[in-house]
This record gives sequence, structure tokens and C-alpha cells, in this order.
Amino acid sequence: MSQTLYRKYRPQIFADVIGQNHIKITLQNEIISEQVAHAYLFTGPRGIGKTSLARILAKSLNCETKKEKETEPCNTCHSCVAITQGNSFDIIEIDAATHTQVDKVRDNIIENINFPPHGKYKVFIIDEVHMLSTAAFNALLKTLEEPPTFVVFILCTTEAYKLPETIISRCQRFDFKKVSAELITGKLKKIVAEEKLNIHNNVLATIALRSGGFIRDAESLLGQITSIITPDKKEITLADVEAIIPRSDFLALANLAAALIDKNAKAGLETINQLVADGVDLERFNLDALDYFRKMILIKLGLKNQSENIAGLSEEVVNKLIEQAEKIEINFLIKILDKLISIQNALKDAEIPQLPLEIAVVELCEEEKEIEKQKNKEIKGNEENKVNAETQNKNEDIEVGSRLHLEPTCSKENTSISKNITLEQIKSAWQEIIKASQNVNHSLPLILKASYPLTITNNLLEIGSEFDIHIQKLKSNTCLNNAEQIFSQVLNSFVRLKPITFSHEKAEELKQEFNLSAPELPPADIEEIAKSFGGKVIE
Ligand SMILES: [Zn+2]
Repeated sequence: MSQTLYRKYRPQIFADVIGQNHIKITLQNEIISEQVAHAYLFTGPRGIGKTSLARILAKSLNCETKKEKETEPCNTCHSCVAITQGNSFDIIEIDAATHTQVDKVRDNIIENINFPPHGKYKVFIIDEVHMLSTAAFNALLKTLEEPPTFVVFILCTTEAYKLPETIISRCQRFDFKKVSAELITGKLKKIVAEEKLNIHNNVLATIALRSGGFIRDAESLLGQITSIITPDKKEITLADVEAIIPRSDFLALANLAAALIDKNAKAGLETINQLVADGVDLERFNLDALDYFRKMILIKLGLKNQSENIAGLSEEVVNKLIEQAEKIEINFLIKILDKLISIQNALKDAEIPQLPLEIAVVELCEEEKEIEKQKNKEIKGNEENKVNAETQNKNEDIEVGSRLHLEPTCSKENTSISKNITLEQIKSAWQEIIKASQNVNHSLPLILKASYPLTITNNLLEIGSEFDIHIQKLKSNTCLNNAEQIFSQVLNSFVRLKPITFSHEKAEELKQEFNLSAPELPPADIEEIAKSFGGKVIE
């Protein structure tokens, strides 16, 4: 049934081709103005109508009853019928995937090319042309350079980037696009009406979405769905669609996740390239991957039982998700989701279909490796600090270098956020933070001495002062970055700062409550502050 539907409703005239308007209009204009090219390159993903349109073009060129300035083939004349039935002498279709060798090109094209056609044109349709061997390409190139006037080549390929530039430059190129779900739903509705089937529009829309823009897939999915209609079961539900139409292979998703967890870019790329070899649509795969990692987050947050998304999964899948969720940090999961969302559009038009996904995987792996390296450095740095501190206690005469090991590459992205810091920890480290800031920035210790830690949520620390001039300075990018680095280094966890100004009364209150060093500063300090802001103290 599935093949039948696809063949039965294969478009036979330009008007029946859904989508690809930019290509149809150009071709029809060329037919009307009799400026048909000698070589066309039809490129785009499989199953979106390249070969169908090639045959319609061939029919139109050779139709015996078509009038001048018309473009649609009649589909009833001798030539049209022969092309539909696949036994026209003038249309030579070659599947390059099975005829890659140069002698096949010679047999099928070169030996054939100089015999004039029965009709007006001799049309060579070469499918999967990128599969030809180099020698075969060279043979083809010679004929493309000076073809007889009655010859038209239509080269079809899913991978135009594999073609030699010399071939591409001799062709008029058309890039076929995936078809919108609306247009596909429209075509499915027509088929359903024609076949007198009882299938709800919801089901058709779901099939259209699941087909990922490939009309051939949509028609064959519809065929699979209709095959379960029996006298006892006349209605098709969305649940039937879920059961019959598979999502991306679960194993491939699990393998991709494993590669990311292990930061193994090589394994990730192998998985992706296997998908390409299997003809998987990567746009659809990416959506399924988003869904997979989202479920992992739900499981990690303990929402396994609440989520209906997870309830319907097989035990094997759920167990794999649980196993992988345990091995991955939630912030890395969020990064993965961010990255997959960001490449969804790029996957639509990528010349090399797998490239956006490959870049995403390599970047994610490399970034995580860098973060790990940074963490190890920090741990090592802290151990050195401890040793240094002990040495200092034992022998005060020995000058100890900076206790702060600020790495030049240290940034928000690659500092550990593994542990949550409490307000108490900040208060007890306050003096150490001020001391550390002396090595970094001239005005920072002064600002911190006049400020209080207020609240901390998810390592976002609200830091306040009654002096607005301090807060404005602290809010400046450089100062804030420096301060955040110092807090993060001293507390050994990534801390962000939110500076706010409050009243003098509040400051008095906090001074009592926290028993921290007084925010009122001795005159010398005020002068220093004024200097650091480029001002001076007015008596
Ligand atoms: Zn005709």
C-alpha cells in the first residue's frame, strides 16, 4: 500500500508538484521562451521530488500535443505515456549509485548521445550523480562541454558538495527545499479524499510533521497507517500514529548522549556519520535528541513519575536515561539543549547535512574538557595555597607570594559551579576576599570594605552598600568581572554578584547584625577612594 500510494499520486504535471515554486517557475519560463539549458543540476535531500520534476520536464519537452507557450505535458500522447510507463527511448534514466564505473557512463551516455531522438529532445536523467567514479565524471564532463543540441542532462544529487566544480559550473543549478507541513497536509488530505479513507486531519498533520518535510516519506507513512484499517477498525487515532511511525532510533540517541558524557568527539562524529549513511534525516534526529536530553533533565530533577512523556517509554529507554542522567551535570545538559536548539535552522540548509551537528558535538566536548582542566588547576592551586598558608604560619619572616592564583583564562564559563555557597560561608570569608582583592584592583578592596553581603540564591550574591558611588563602580564590567573572579576563587565555586544601593539606616542595622568591619572609613581611606575615582576630598 505504501509504495502504491506514492506511485499512484506521483505528480505528472508541474501544477501537481507541491512546494519548489522557485524551481517550477524558472523551468516553465525557460520552456515558454525556448531557452532550455543543456544541463541541469537538481540538488537537495532525498524524497522531495527531484526525479519527479525531472520527468515532468522531460515530458514537457517531448510532449506531442503541447502547444506553443504552454508548459504542462498532456500525459496522454504517445511520448508522455511512454515516459510515465518508463519505456521511452528518448528518456534515459541512470542510477549512478549502481552504475558508478566509467564504462557504464560510456555505454549509457557516450555511445548513446549522438543518436537523434524520436521526439524533440533526448533527456539523460542521472540520479545520485555524486556516486560516479572520477573517471566516469571525466567522461561525463567531455559530453557536457559540447553536447548535441537535442540533448538535455538532468543531474540529481543529495550531495552536491561531492561533485567536481567543473561539473557544477556547466549546469543550471536548482536547490530543492523541504516542503512545509501545511503543504504536505494538503496533499495528504487530497489523497485521503480520493481514496475515500476516514482519517482525521489531526492524524494527517502529525504525519506531515513527522515526515520532516519529505513528501515521499509522508505518503509512505500514510500508506502504513491506512494498512491497519480493517472492517473492525475503521478509525485511525493519534495513538496509532505513535505506534506505527518510529521516532529516531533510540540507540543512536543513547550513543550520542554517551559520546557527550564521555567528552568523546570522535565517537559522537561516528554516530552522526552512521546516521547519514543510514539515510536518517538529521533535522528530525536533532528534534528527537532535544526531546531525549529534555527527558534526562526531567529525570535528573526527580520528575520521572510526573512526566507523561516518560510514562509511555519502554523500560529499556527509561533505564538508559536514568543511567546517563546520573553521569551528567545539569549545567552541561542545559548547554547541550542550547546548542541543539541553536543548530536546528542551520540543519535545514546545510550544504554538508551533518556539519552543524558535527560542529556542535566537537564544541560541546572541547568546552567540557577545558572546564575539567580548569577545575583540576583550581584544585591544585588551592592545595598550593594551603601549603603556602601553613608555611606562613610557621615562619612569618618568609614572604609568601599572592595567595590568589587568578588564571588568565578564568571566566564565568569554565569556573566550577558544582557547589552552592551559603551566606555564612561568604561572611566568614569576607576578610579573605577583601585581602585577595588588594592584588587585583586598586578600588575594589575599598568598595568591599564599605559593602555587605545581603542574600545569596543559586550563587547569585546580592552585595549592597549605602554609598551609591561604590555600587556604580562595582557595576562596571571590568570591576564586576574582577570581583566575581575573586569571590569564585576564594570560595572555590562560581559566584555572581548583584550590586545594590541601600539606606544609611540599613547599613547601621547590618553593621550590628553581621558584626563586620565598619563601613565608615578613616579619612586616609576616603582620600584613597577619591583618588581611585579621579576625585578629591572637599573639606
Ligand atoms: Zn503529451
